[in-house]
Parts: sequence; structure tokens; C-alpha cells
Amino acid sequence: MKIVAANFKTNHNRSITASYVTELNKFLEDDKRERKVFVFPPATALDNFDGKTIVGAQNAYPAQNGAFTGEIGVDQLSEFGINTILIGHSERRHVLGETQESIAEKYEYYRELDFNIIYCIGEPLEVREQGNKELLEYLDAQLVGIDLNYSKLVVAYEPVWAIGTGLTPTNHDIELIHYSLREKISAPLLYGGSVKVNNSEEIMQIDNVDGVLVGGAALHVEDFKQIIKNS
Ligand code: PEP
Repeated sequence: MKIVAANFKTNHNRSITASYVTELNKFLEDDKRERKVFVFPPATALDNFDGKTIVGAQNAYPAQNGAFTGEIGVDQLSEFGINTILIGHSERRHVLGETQESIAEKYEYYRELDFNIIYCIGEPLEVREQGNKELLEYLDAQLVGIDLNYSKLVVAYEPVWAIGTGLTPTNHDIELIHYSLREKISAPLLYGGSVKVNNSEEIMQIDNVDGVLVGGAALHVEDFKQIIKNS
């Protein structure tokens, strides 16, 4: 079953998110194909959403509640029945400074709570330019402390240089990386990084690509619906 996920990042407010999810649910209700569809809105737009869309948190602190200014914890997620989380996104690693150690701690915390986890890995351009061996070693380091046998894990491979840039690796490069990842990860493997309406179909046909994680191109629900149709 293909998996299609939308990461809104710091875009869309509460009311736009609500109409988006309502529209998506209508579409998924009429669409009889088996697919798993996730949407990650900003924390302020989380709510109790019925329907087939699985709404998750882009981030949360590994705590029930407490003195963690600016963060949300399990209390805030469980108010809306949210049990899905994105962990390790490159913007949290590189812009917000999360370390592998803190990411692994968060992973472990939400794994123990039985959350669906979309766990992101990906290399910056300077690592890719060093060659495949270095690239794979870099990705391996992003798997340290992560239980890859967790049954509710989905891994998203997202090269940092492809996120939001309009650049993508060649299909052959995606195939090579996913092939190497598949040797150690049996969980579904998503590709992310400048997935658009017009490249999503071919990317989803690559061996060992079980779906896509989409940022910018998922902001308009009509485009995201088209990407789902292409899956
Ligand atoms: C992302 O944020 O996970 C992402 C893949 O972004 P974009 O599709 O905009 O490159």
C-alpha cells in the first residue's frame, strides 16, 4: 500500500487546515484505492479530525507536560487523539539544531507510546558530493539509536539539498539509496525532496519507494490530491 504524506511546515492556519482536511477526507472517501495518507499541520492547527486522513504532529517534546517553553507534549497531543509524529526532519536537525542523541531520545519516547513515527534521514550536498560510501555512512549515523524493527515506523529518505529547492536526485540515484536502505530497513521507505505533481508518479514507481513525503507541493489540496492519484 502506497503512503503519501504532506508536511505543511510553518504554513497554513487552523481554518485553512480544517478545510484542507475536510476536502481530503471527501476525496479519500470516494477513492477506493488502498493508500495511507498523512497530513502534518502546524501544532496550532491540530484538532480532532474524523475521516481517513491521518493527522500527525510535526514535532513534540518527549514529555507528558512540564517546563519546556515553546514545546508541546503528550497532554497537548492526546487532547486531539494525535498518535502520529514526524521525527528527525532535516529542518529540525539543521535549522533548529536537534542532535542525533536528542532525536533518538524522542524516537524512543514516542515508540514506547506506540505512536506512528515517520522518521526522516538525508544528507547535505557536501556529503553527496563526497560519493556514495560517505553518503551511506552519513545516513547510517542518522539511524544510531533508532529501533528499526518498530512496527509503526516509516522511514523517509529526504536529501537536504532537494528539500524545497526544485532539485531531485536522478531516479537511478533514488533507486540506489533505497536499495541500500532496504537491506537494513524492512519498514516502508518514502522519498521526499521536491516531489511535485509532475514527478510523483515516476518517483513512486521506483523499486523500494513505498510512497512520498511532500512539503511545498502539498500546500494546495488539489495538487496533493493529484499526487495521491499518482500513487
Ligand atoms: C519536506 O519538507 O519534507 C519536503 C520534502 O519539502 P519539499 O517537498 O518542499 O521539498
